[in-house]
Amino acid sequence: MLQENRKNPELQKEFVITEIMYMSKTPMNKIEWIQKLREEENLPSEGYEQLLRSPWSGEEEEFLYTNAREVRIKNYGHSIYMRGLIEFTNYCRNDCYYCGIRKSNCHITRYRLTKEEILACCEQGYRIGYRTFVLQGGEDGYFTDERICDIVGEIRHRYPDCAITLSIGERAKESYQAFFDAGANRYLLRQETSNSFHYGKLHPHTMSMEHRQQCLRDLKEIGFQTGCGIMVGSPEQKTEYIVEDLMFMKELNPHMIGIGPFIPHQDTCFASEPAGTLEDTLHLLGILRLMFPRVLLPATTALGSIHPRGREMGVLAGANIVMPNISPLEVREKYRLYDGKIGIGEEAVRSYQNLCRRMEAIGYEVQMGRGDYPRNSDEK
Ligand code: SAM
Repeated sequence: MLQENRKNPELQKEFVITEIMYMSKTPMNKIEWIQKLREEENLPSEGYEQLLRSPWSGEEEEFLYTNAREVRIKNYGHSIYMRGLIEFTNYCRNDCYYCGIRKSNCHITRYRLTKEEILACCEQGYRIGYRTFVLQGGEDGYFTDERICDIVGEIRHRYPDCAITLSIGERAKESYQAFFDAGANRYLLRQETSNSFHYGKLHPHTMSMEHRQQCLRDLKEIGFQTGCGIMVGSPEQKTEYIVEDLMFMKELNPHMIGIGPFIPHQDTCFASEPAGTLEDTLHLLGILRLMFPRVLLPATTALGSIHPRGREMGVLAGANIVMPNISPLEVREKYRLYDGKIGIGEEAVRSYQNLCRRMEAIGYEVQMGRGDYPRNSDEK
């Protein structure tokens, strides 16, 4: 009988209307939104808002993480990719209010690694087994396009089998193109927030959200595996702003997403602001995995810094990357973006062994391959 009715267009219309009325009377709960997100990889904003708001029951959290893990395992198995992080300069021309290496922090000792020192990090990293080098730094005028291209070109020449990731902030499209042509493959640039009011609360007026977003579009256009991201719980962040971030990410369709909790730094304007929470960060990781099944999603150092098992929990919530520090020990303390950053005194070999052990203990296996984003043939 029901089958018969469904064949009748008029009755079918009525059926759909009744269903909508029913749905509007009984708001969907978190479990239903998670199911829908897994099926459709996107939600209307009210769905995201509900998922981003506390409280979560233990059962709801488990449902989110089980789904996120299943999706991650379907795409990447139990592999966790390792990236060797080289923090090569803490000079920065920017003055982001949250950041420990901001221009006006006069309490830190500034440093920059020479080309030879950067290459020595790569050499040691390569010997350990790393096949991705991430060069991160403040926006340091010393590192002109020419110097960056020279360093990237030399790493590309010496290690043709490795991926080179840059994370050096906003530059002109021509500069990004030159880095790409010199051999860089990936670029990380968090948008930080996709709400312009919020952006203005975190940055001086000389910086612009539109420009940062344009940089991300340029990077993708050029062909970089492109990473965006935000800090969870940054000062004045609201649930609606994170929803805007998710919408921006859906439009950008990034290959990597770096999210971690905001953690205050004693010498910044936000010294006495509360840190983002472990729970909020894990929820967002699970949501992102369902939104972007193939995305490269790190369990970040900041997550490991707010909880001793933060990175393990990040992996169990859907992350598939860890980025141990392979910078020289002498400079680690100077690249303190926030208080309590982990890995400051740990030798590169030690942190590698330590992370392998931690990942094995939760049933995952560290992979030292390049771990590129698995692009579809029609995908930028
Ligand atoms: N200059 C490059 C850029 O702008 O992308 C890379 C370096 S920047 C320090 C790297 C990231 O550190 C930023 O995108 C930001 O999200 C994060 N960060 C800075 N201060 C932080 C804090 N107090 N807590 C957590 N993350 C922070």
